[in-house]
Amino acid sequence: MDQTGKPFSYETFPNSGQIAYFSMEIAIHPGMPTYSGGLGVLAGDTLRSMADLGVPAVAFTLLHRKGYFQQHLGPDGAQSEDVQPWNPADYCTEEPARITVSIEDRVVTARAWRYDMEGRFGHIVPIYLLDTDLDCNSGWDRGLTDHLYGGDTNYRLQQEIVLGMGGVRIAKALGLDVNVYHMNEGHAALLTLGLLESQLGGGPLGAPTEYDIEQVRRKCVFTTHTPVPAGHDRFSTEQTIRILGGDRTARLERLGCFKDGLLNMTVLALHFSRYANGVALQHGRVSREMFPEYPIDSITNGVHASTWTSAHMQQLFDEEVPAWRCDNLYLRNLIDLPEQKILAAHARAKEELLAEVASRTGLVLNPKVLTLGFARRAATYKRADLLFTSPERLQQIAAEAGGLQILYAGKAHPQDEPGKSLIRRVVENASRFSNDSLRVVYLENYAWDLGAMLTAGVDVWVNTPRRPYEASGTSGMKAALNGVPSLSILDGWWIEGCIEGVTGWAIEDGANDADEAESLYRKLQNAVVPLYRESQEKWGRMMRTTVAFNGSYFNTDRMVRQYTRNAYYPGVLVEKHRAKVTEEEASLAR
Ligand SMILES: *Cc1c(COP(=O)(O)O)cnc(C)c1O
Repeated sequence: MDQTGKPFSYETFPNSGQIAYFSMEIAIHPGMPTYSGGLGVLAGDTLRSMADLGVPAVAFTLLHRKGYFQQHLGPDGAQSEDVQPWNPADYCTEEPARITVSIEDRVVTARAWRYDMEGRFGHIVPIYLLDTDLDCNSGWDRGLTDHLYGGDTNYRLQQEIVLGMGGVRIAKALGLDVNVYHMNEGHAALLTLGLLESQLGGGPLGAPTEYDIEQVRRKCVFTTHTPVPAGHDRFSTEQTIRILGGDRTARLERLGCFKDGLLNMTVLALHFSRYANGVALQHGRVSREMFPEYPIDSITNGVHASTWTSAHMQQLFDEEVPAWRCDNLYLRNLIDLPEQKILAAHARAKEELLAEVASRTGLVLNPKVLTLGFARRAATYKRADLLFTSPERLQQIAAEAGGLQILYAGKAHPQDEPGKSLIRRVVENASRFSNDSLRVVYLENYAWDLGAMLTAGVDVWVNTPRRPYEASGTSGMKAALNGVPSLSILDGWWIEGCIEGVTGWAIEDGANDADEAESLYRKLQNAVVPLYRESQEKWGRMMRTTVAFNGSYFNTDRMVRQYTRNAYYPGVLVEKHRAKVTEEEASLAR
């Protein structure tokens, strides 16, 4: 449905035109530090699947010349950060086009670097990385596209002008024919203002009619990723008047895009989108409660299967169900895979992971010992220290299990002091409570490569967010593709993915942290450890059902097909299907 209540539908699949995907961060290539975490990885995986599936799309992001930071941890777990500058010319080609945007009454010029994301069959999704580091700009403006999530909210709003308004202009300058603009999170919401101004003939002045707004709405699609009000990007009236301009601010106020006296980028995006969605079933519900005036659907996230499946597991899939690469749904056919084969492929991924741990830390872990993985942004709601609620209990479980190894990793945002103390607490606990049977290691600099090794090589993936803060989460999906079951709070995607004892285990909801820690210990002690000790065959069966049920579904191949059918070109396939059915009926009647 569009915002006016009428269902929007394309009568036929458009013969020309493209989807323009906008995201503040995109994990494009392991060598390009242009992402910080889940949002960027999702954006990259989405584009990888679009390239594989031949979806006509282009993408826009910022160059982030200085990269997201490199993390160092002191012996006490104190985090320090280094910039990670990279050379765009090593991966991208510069486009000759130049565009300008106005920021605080200055004219800022931007260019774009193009990266070609190539799919399995050669289809290319070009990604344009906007860059303001040009001689004609002032020193401050030259740095606007340097730091991902750096600086204060003034810097952020200026970056969002470059991404949203600059992106729309560069698309035009490049001669692209765009029929769908997809905003991946509210950071890109200003593209709607860019489109509205273009609809009004280019200038910021003039009053838009309902018709003008509808013309913008027909092109826009929005995905929200944030389940709590404080997580949404917001800017004060003073800031928007100063940075965006008085006329624009007044217009956005009139359009109802201010909430509680702040320009709310989620409301702006929702207001101008004909279709909006959350990133998992529950997140859709939570978003509808937060923004009851807007219809918000759910399309559950996924991960790009071949990017996140270990080489050994990929080889096994190729032997057993070669069609999985064209259509991930075929992974469901692994349901009768011999247990020994999946156990063997996983054992090799585990060896590689432990070799990496040894080379990074000097610590030699035991491949036979049950190994848990916990790696994610060190945000406090993720409660990385929940496992240490009762260290005695954990040690007792380790002893019963014949040993327990826990691998941690994760960066705290440089300005997130509570996140940094969380890392310190985990590192302190790791050194205080590690002994012959319990080994806890915190690995530095969680990024793409380490994430892939961890999710493929551990035995169980643990996740302990406080409900309902996890919109979706995707690392557990990477684990599932590698046959690794999750032990997790029923939040985000896990509500849909958990089949108790078949794809993993649920940590039950409790009244407080202590209750949930108790449930975590009980599941470890009474379910995970006994199964691991009892028989390899039964463990292998669990790995097999994990890939078959969850690997086949929680991938971006399925997700992109859903976006195409339900968000980008709704009605198209349905119409075609209907025409076919009618034709078949007619031929039966003859
Ligand atoms: C997959 C991934 C994430 C997102 O995982 P969550 O489950 O959302 O925490 C974050 N960072 C890196 C490096 C990843 O590979």
